[in-house]
Amino acid sequence: MIPLNGGDLHIPWQKELARAFTTPEQLLDYLGLDAAPWQPGLAARRLFAMRVPQPFADKMEKGNPQDPLLRQVLPLADEFTQVPGFVTDPLDEHDSALPGLLHKYRSRVLLVLRGGCAVNCRYCFRRHFPYADNSPGQGGWQPAVDYIAAHSEINEVILSGGDPLMAKDEHIAALLNELEAIPHLKRLRIHSRLPVVIHTRLTDTLRDRLAHSRLRPVLVLHINHANEIDADLADRLRSWQRAGITLLNQSVLLAGVNDDADALEALSERLFDAGVLPYYLHQLDRVAGAAHFAVSDERARTLMARLLERLPGFLVPRLVREVGGEASKTPLDLRLEPS
Ligand code: SF4
Repeated sequence: MIPLNGGDLHIPWQKELARAFTTPEQLLDYLGLDAAPWQPGLAARRLFAMRVPQPFADKMEKGNPQDPLLRQVLPLADEFTQVPGFVTDPLDEHDSALPGLLHKYRSRVLLVLRGGCAVNCRYCFRRHFPYADNSPGQGGWQPAVDYIAAHSEINEVILSGGDPLMAKDEHIAALLNELEAIPHLKRLRIHSRLPVVIHTRLTDTLRDRLAHSRLRPVLVLHINHANEIDADLADRLRSWQRAGITLLNQSVLLAGVNDDADALEALSERLFDAGVLPYYLHQLDRVAGAAHFAVSDERARTLMARLLERLPGFLVPRLVREVGGEASKTPLDLRLEPS
């Protein structure tokens, strides 16, 4: 069990957080899998804590050790392998403008609303991020709000984390009140994976508050595989889309999870059925402990060429890479032959 740190067990999504799996043995047992073959790697959870909410585990196939959702969250011995070029801070993010505020793009700032996530993805580029030094904490965002108000070139605030939806609805609403009062802001973007692992996090209260905001709301989800979108999640996403909230998705290209054309095609189709547009497909950030998830650029280009053959253009995500110090994401040249 995860200590709740002031959580409310009467709130369904907080209840799910409280009973998330935190050891590989619990999760493997729940899935009907023998932990013995995995034993050498299970200690990797000491490198990066394990956390898997049960609703996400319920989307995994029982008895399947190769399940693509399980692979994203199960600690493996591979995480102990040191690979040249894979480092603790691949995006040079450990230096911020203020605690909790990253101003890496001219017109956009990233506000770390809450450190920590509902699920810990083994490939996460922030698995070594010092959240304790960079999270403003509940209500401690005033210096960041003052900074945004003083920089008229900023027109968009991106709530990030950790996962910003770990904050309660009333805290997000309180921050939104302050941001709406800054005249040069136009948009509020929220990046979150939490609804994908606990769909009840998409509350009607938050949806309605965002839908009535002066700022144009955008929710960017992080979904890597079609199996992550079940009927419950799709229903809630469609209701958020109907309320006028722009829904986009970014995925990470991950070996053994979604590195084949069928999986990526199915993901785009299911996203669209749920009212979400595919946005980015990221090449893996080269973070220490995650090299076993890397897919070569050559393979990534081949997959993109297949997607372009099979899908309408608006369902093909852009293949990008984040490069530390660059002002924006770097698109990969697909090197397509002229037809
Ligand atoms: S939800 Fe996002 S930030 Fe959190 S561990 Fe997963 S990839 Fe990292």
